[in-house]
Amino acid sequence: MLRLSRPKTDLRTLITLLAVASIVITLANSLYASWRVQRDVLIGNTLESNRVYATKLASTTEVFFQLAESQLSYSAKVLGRGLDNEANLQDEVDRLREQTNSFNSVVIVDASGWVRAISPESLMLKGMHLSSSAAKQALKERKPLISQPTLSAANNLLVFVSWPIWSKTGSYLGYVGGSIYLKKKSILNVLLGEQFYRDGSSLYVIDGKNQVLYHQDRQLIGKTIDPLISNEQRNKASNGNQQVTAEDGEQMLAGYASVPTAGWTIIALKPTKATLAPLNSLLLKVLKHSVPFALLTLIIALILAQRIALPLWQLARKASQMDTQNVSKEISGIHSWYYESSQIKRALLAGISLMQDKIGRLKSEVQTDPMTSLLNRRGLNAVLDYFLATSQPFAVLALDIDYFKRVNDTFGHDAGDTVIKTVAQQLEQSARQTDVICRNGGEEFLMILPGADRDVASMIAERVRKRIEVLSLDPVGHITISVGVAFWSPQSGDGMDHTFKLADEALYQAKNAGRNRVKVAKNFTKPPAVVQVQPQ
Ligand code: GH3
Ligand code: MG
Ligand code: MG
Repeated sequence: MLRLSRPKTDLRTLITLLAVASIVITLANSLYASWRVQRDVLIGNTLESNRVYATKLASTTEVFFQLAESQLSYSAKVLGRGLDNEANLQDEVDRLREQTNSFNSVVIVDASGWVRAISPESLMLKGMHLSSSAAKQALKERKPLISQPTLSAANNLLVFVSWPIWSKTGSYLGYVGGSIYLKKKSILNVLLGEQFYRDGSSLYVIDGKNQVLYHQDRQLIGKTIDPLISNEQRNKASNGNQQVTAEDGEQMLAGYASVPTAGWTIIALKPTKATLAPLNSLLLKVLKHSVPFALLTLIIALILAQRIALPLWQLARKASQMDTQNVSKEISGIHSWYYESSQIKRALLAGISLMQDKIGRLKSEVQTDPMTSLLNRRGLNAVLDYFLATSQPFAVLALDIDYFKRVNDTFGHDAGDTVIKTVAQQLEQSARQTDVICRNGGEEFLMILPGADRDVASMIAERVRKRIEVLSLDPVGHITISVGVAFWSPQSGDGMDHTFKLADEALYQAKNAGRNRVKVAKNFTKPPAVVQVQPQ
């Protein structure tokens, strides 16, 4: 036999799973999308704010250098009258240093390299030769200069800004220069400020050779570092931003801007990690806002899943009970509210009605005696099952044609058949509408009289007997029947088989007593007492 394995999942579970999966995927996708968007926004904003910050500092520094140079150029113009008056020279360097606070020290050097005046005087360099490369360069090149970081005679790391002094006649008299200390307090520290450096952020000022001129970590000042922003990039745009890798390998978001006069670059950095730190809490917020909606969607989806699956589930359940009573009525009651379910419902109903038709036809063929169209024994059994199920008491009449062999022998088998058919018709005409008549085989019949008591049963049995007796059949003439009567009721405690046996025994008694008579069995005595009903 073909065995179909039954699937374990049902439609409702599948739709539910589908809904849950799509909601989870949508939620994950929107989280991922907002993570990407917010990450890009945070990085973009930080890059831009670093660029703006570096640009602002660069322009401030640029303005400072232009001012410093214009101060020095003005002094150089004044000093062009001559470097002879020592008191005037000292006044000039003191003024330059103290008036603007631009320089940590100011010096006037003559054409042969001698220090003619210096402020503060405490540096004790007056009358000496300056040995730093910046001093030598200023003397050699005789043009305005902003030096690279250099170590001064007093062992200070500094940047030296100098301006040549030319006499009115055009002869070179020397230069006036100011130093800006890199490691000690100077105008540069004040300009660049200290407030920026939180959460790992940092600021570099580097010269064209990647030597650090300013950093909040003073250890780094004067050192040469790997270029954070390539020269190529710096030449391409005077300011910009990009992601860089710091010396320790940490990813940084850098904004840079150049200071054209000094050839410096200012780089503001913030670690990518610190920039993205708020991302998690932002995502949590997104989650907090989307979860209630997702849950609501889920609940709606579950309700819909239930509503969609319900008619199909009910139809599927009924499909497995198609042989039960009332199944058509129950299927008709299923609310099939959408196309597929209503089509399946229609198909099921059509299938059931076809099947029931066919079964009904088969049943009636199986349960009917073809010659008399009465029920056969199998048909009777179905009726008896019903009586048993409904606890319906009844009387049984067992009827047998007397001396039937003779009929056959004398008039032939066909005439015998006609007699059987005629008796069947007579039985039907004598029966009430609710009575059941059965051909029990041969020329024996059974009549079941539901609810009939002894009087009714005897009366009907007698009526039948008389009816046959008075009948004149061609060519057979008169025939008679004998009848045995018994009763069944659920209270009696007897099985139906026992009742039929009693009816048979009563019939046997009727035969023995001379035939053409009715005998009623007394049910509750064993063996049954038989009461004679006198023919009238
Ligand atoms: P009794 O009064 O004791 O009933 O005598 P009987 O001759 O009727 O005896 P019994 O009931 O034993 O005989 C039944 C006979 O009915 C035997 C059988 O040949 C005949 N018979 C059974 N079925 C049919 C049928 O379908 N058609 C015909 N023509 N005869 C049948
Ligand atoms: Mg018989
Ligand atoms: Mg007989």
